[in-house]
Amino acid sequence: MTDYEAVIGLETHIQLNTLTKIFCACKADSWNAAPNTNICPVCSGLPGVLPVLNEKAVEKAMLLAAAMHAQIQSLSFFDRKNYFYPDLPKGYQISMYEAPLATGGYLDLPLPQNEARRVRIAKLHLEEDAGKTKNAGGKRLIDFNRCGVPLVEMVTSPDLRSAEEAAQYLTRLRQLLRWLGVSEADMEKGHLRCDANVSIRPRGAAYLNPKTEIKNVNSIDAVREAVQKEIERQAREMEAGHTIESWTLEWDEDSGKLKKMRSKETEADYRYFHEPDLLPLHISEEWKKSILTALPELPLERRQRFVTQYGLPEYDADILTAERSLSDYYEQTVKAYGGDPKKVSNWLMNDVLRMLNEKGMTADQLRLLPAHLAEIIRLIDEGVINNATGKSLLEKVQASGETPAAIVAREGLAKVSDDAAIRSICQEVIAENPAEVENYRNGKATLMGWFVGQVMRKMRGKADPNLARAILEELLAQ
Ligand code: ZN
Ligand code: MN
Repeated sequence: MTDYEAVIGLETHIQLNTLTKIFCACKADSWNAAPNTNICPVCSGLPGVLPVLNEKAVEKAMLLAAAMHAQIQSLSFFDRKNYFYPDLPKGYQISMYEAPLATGGYLDLPLPQNEARRVRIAKLHLEEDAGKTKNAGGKRLIDFNRCGVPLVEMVTSPDLRSAEEAAQYLTRLRQLLRWLGVSEADMEKGHLRCDANVSIRPRGAAYLNPKTEIKNVNSIDAVREAVQKEIERQAREMEAGHTIESWTLEWDEDSGKLKKMRSKETEADYRYFHEPDLLPLHISEEWKKSILTALPELPLERRQRFVTQYGLPEYDADILTAERSLSDYYEQTVKAYGGDPKKVSNWLMNDVLRMLNEKGMTADQLRLLPAHLAEIIRLIDEGVINNATGKSLLEKVQASGETPAAIVAREGLAKVSDDAAIRSICQEVIAENPAEVENYRNGKATLMGWFVGQVMRKMRGKADPNLARAILEELLAQ
């Protein structure tokens, strides 16, 4: 069988998290609102109304463009994209076509062995969303609440080479959108929507075969699965000597199958023309500069810096920079602690992340502050408390907001390293468990861990376990 490579481009629609819609004062987010309650004459397309461009939508799109390394244009304008569909009350969508907000740009995906896949951006512009239709009880229902919600449409060049890379692109894009605070990027709520263009060719070939377009995929896992199935289908077709036709396919989540959809309009069918109700969008150098100063260090840059500055493994750096607030939390803890940065990473990856997952929180919402975590690690370093007590302090600080040292003092959690106190408990444990003592003395050495556990339990975790072990070994050898 021929060795094929996939050629994949992704078209994404990103819902910006502005307060209001792009051309009117209706709320942008109406996820829980009853159908057709979040509308006004502008977004429901009544005659004689005028759209007014939302400045915040432009600024969020500019921030995204800059983070994608795209060039923000000093002059752009909106066009009307004309088509008829029940969820589009005006009969056209206001979008950018001839003069988009930004051009160029790319997103680098880290690959194994320090390589990266550069995914170029072919298109980046602002537009308004359409409404929604759904089937219920044999009827077709329409909800205009989403009409006029600000979107950035971003289309990649066909630079992705596998279903896994397509999934990774979306994962990195979602990370970036949240990092910048421009979108909630929740695919299940449609904040980030994705269509995939897929073709295959013999590995190493430079030409492009006809592609199919997969629509309606609303999770990253579904994109990976749908694209993989389509790559395999095309390979089977080609092996059988068939040609690939430019179908539009719909992903059916329930059956996990691709279904053939209507054929698509071509660009010419949309009869684009300039939107006469909106002025051209001029972006001054000063405005652009003020946006660019708000551009934070980007996730992949920070990931790389964590490797070089703190000597972290890439695996740690990747997890710690998955969210901006977590990476901030990490750096603040390292700074407050002043010791080994890898030790801090272990605490975050093992304990703090578990806590965040259990509570459904982000790091910036914790009462357990970076200074608290640093103090806990220091108390262990200094031998004041043992590791198990340190771990139990995480929840206690989170619950009370008190400092770790205050809790240690009040609850008497300081480690008992007093030989006599531990020795008397060890003697108790030995006296109470003659059967285990006999087994141990007859060669079952693994019981030592159990004896240490009994002593720790009686001392409510405060004994120095190494000292307890040494005393037990001494007593049991007699
Ligand atoms: Zn409105
Ligand atoms: Mn679009």
